[in-house]
Amino acid sequence: MGIKMGYALDQNGAKWDAQTYQKGQGAEPLKCEHCGVNVTHNPPYPKEIYDKPVLVSGYFRLYPKRPHAAGCRFGIDNEVVEIAKTSDGLIESLRNNRYRMRLVMIKEALEQASTSRNNGGSENRAGTGKTYPSNPGRLPAYINSAKRALKLRAACTDDQELQVHLELVFEGNVNVAWSQFYFEAERHMEAFHAVSQNTVQHPIAIQGRAKEVKYAIHGVESKNVINLLMNRFRPDPEDPANGIGLEVSIWASDASWFKGIEKDDEILVLGMWRSNIKAPSPATHGGRYKTFTTRRLTLTLVLKTQVSKV
Ligand SMILES: [Zn+2]
Repeated sequence: MGIKMGYALDQNGAKWDAQTYQKGQGAEPLKCEHCGVNVTHNPPYPKEIYDKPVLVSGYFRLYPKRPHAAGCRFGIDNEVVEIAKTSDGLIESLRNNRYRMRLVMIKEALEQASTSRNNGGSENRAGTGKTYPSNPGRLPAYINSAKRALKLRAACTDDQELQVHLELVFEGNVNVAWSQFYFEAERHMEAFHAVSQNTVQHPIAIQGRAKEVKYAIHGVESKNVINLLMNRFRPDPEDPANGIGLEVSIWASDASWFKGIEKDDEILVLGMWRSNIKAPSPATHGGRYKTFTTRRLTLTLVLKTQVSKV
């Protein structure tokens, strides 16, 4: 529940570190070091990321239905209010401390900015007549606000509490679950399903580790790509001799947009993705699979800030 906390205080005011704390230590119950609400400990635990076991850091968290006090810096509601303030209308206030982010505004602004680039920066065509006008000039503010919301999500234990305070809506006020908007490395294939199966695409954020950053492919200066580290090939449920993998790539026509991003950096990419499937290729070295099928998710950047280090 809520934002993960690295430290907590016990009843005597002693401070405990979530990495080294063990059950039963200190004068319980432990509490939030800022507002004093009771918290509980989640010890470090192993998890498979990119098919390798990794120890996930320990943290302190809230008990269900017992939020931080108003104004506590670990309160999600507090954070959402702050992000909404500078969102240029992307995030609107509803009743009862709830907010709503309009993904359609990001989509339209991206499309308009893209059209504008392709036309050499000339005037955009008129809007598409949707109910909520978006402004491509506001795209940096939209992207920035969405990124702040995504970073808040990444700092939380799960989707639940954020879902309550910040709902996501798309065209026709259709609700989008956070699980269909934000995908970490182990859920990349779910992102592929979302993109390939949704008849109407909404913006999606994918987080992953850069496997390589390539510039001027085949000597073409406008062809630059970041490939994310792939998860292992999995057996095709309909044909176990066929291994299925997913390649996630981010393209930019301007090489400087990748400045500061290097191999092994953890990055977050927000925008409109496309999916396709390469024809199966035969395995060359024997082994478990006779063929390999690579699925692909690709995104072409319209704005540098669509990609950022986490
Ligand atoms: Zn607190």
